[in-house]
Amino acid sequence: MSTPPHRTGSTNAAPDPRSIDTDDRPFVLVWEVTQACDLACDHCRADAQPARHPRELTTTEGKRLLDQAREFGGGQLVVLSGGDPLARPDLLELVEYGTEIGLRMTLTPSGTSSLTPAVVEDLADAGIRRMALSLDGASAETHDDFRGESGSFQQTVEAAKAARAVGLPLQINTTVCASTAGELPALRDRVSDLDAVLWSVFFLVPVGRGRLLDPVSSERAEEILAWLSEVTEESDFGVKTTEAPHYRRVAIQRRRDASEAPAADDIGRRLGITAGDGFAFVSHTGELYPSGFLPASAGSVRDGTLTERYRDSDLFRSLRDPDALGGKCGACEFRHVCGGSRSRAYAHTGDPTASDPLCAYVPEGYEGPMPPGRAD
Ligand code: SF4
Repeated sequence: MSTPPHRTGSTNAAPDPRSIDTDDRPFVLVWEVTQACDLACDHCRADAQPARHPRELTTTEGKRLLDQAREFGGGQLVVLSGGDPLARPDLLELVEYGTEIGLRMTLTPSGTSSLTPAVVEDLADAGIRRMALSLDGASAETHDDFRGESGSFQQTVEAAKAARAVGLPLQINTTVCASTAGELPALRDRVSDLDAVLWSVFFLVPVGRGRLLDPVSSERAEEILAWLSEVTEESDFGVKTTEAPHYRRVAIQRRRDASEAPAADDIGRRLGITAGDGFAFVSHTGELYPSGFLPASAGSVRDGTLTERYRDSDLFRSLRDPDALGGKCGACEFRHVCGGSRSRAYAHTGDPTASDPLCAYVPEGYEGPMPPGRAD
């Protein structure tokens, strides 16, 4: 086996988030290690298939990709996603390799019978730093119905307990759409009961099989985001939204309404990450996308150009410029802290710099067109 170039003296300590310049490196690099998965979930972005794709990155190519990720700097966070990453027989080898060269490796496995306590323990031993599991319903009935697989709820809960038993921090991912929104209060309780450190709440983007689901309306999204802001204040676990960066706008407005002085950087500095700006996604065949929900390619990483493409491609650079946004996002005073979901704008218009149709906010004085795809 070749010697990893960064093995000696490697550190995989988390870098100070305030020190990260997202023009230079992402906070989060997701690698979709495979499209293969035994589940057929209603919302699946990946259009997951039972079998692995013949052009999937090989073990050697995968290690080379991890070497490139290490070029962003020590402690780079890498999320191995799918499909179901457990469908790759070299998964432990990849986790160990990434850990050895100084990456922080995390995993989003599917809740299937393959995810046994023994497998969870092996993953922890290989160096996994966090496990993210999906719960889209608070009961077996609602979750299994959404996932299209009887038994998935129980397997997910058991895997979550196994992760906690070996000291692995746990993240719970939940999809918000018309059919799951009513479950959110009960899901919050589940997240707490499972002792998760983070609840990642994903607002549906119509990509892959997710096109067949109904999103929540922008007014309903506003209510949910305000509620999540309360949950954040009351809970032991953190809450983050995915593909709903206007969560930050809602939080700022809530504080203003309560006459609390906004923090010094409430406006004027981006506080989170969005597609291409602090976030990057490598597909199972090696294409670099700004996110898994924005399948516009900045090119293949098979030729060893991950860092250059993230830093210098026209696509990624435009996504890091809030002043390049169009429509009401471009006219919005919150564009530097929010900027809208670029993935949803792309899904509805084909233009990643267009406005996000999920956001109900209309900037004062804005008289331009409303984004297509608004659900209310
Ligand atoms: S209009 Fe766009 S930039 Fe402004 S809060 Fe809504 S999504 Fe964010």
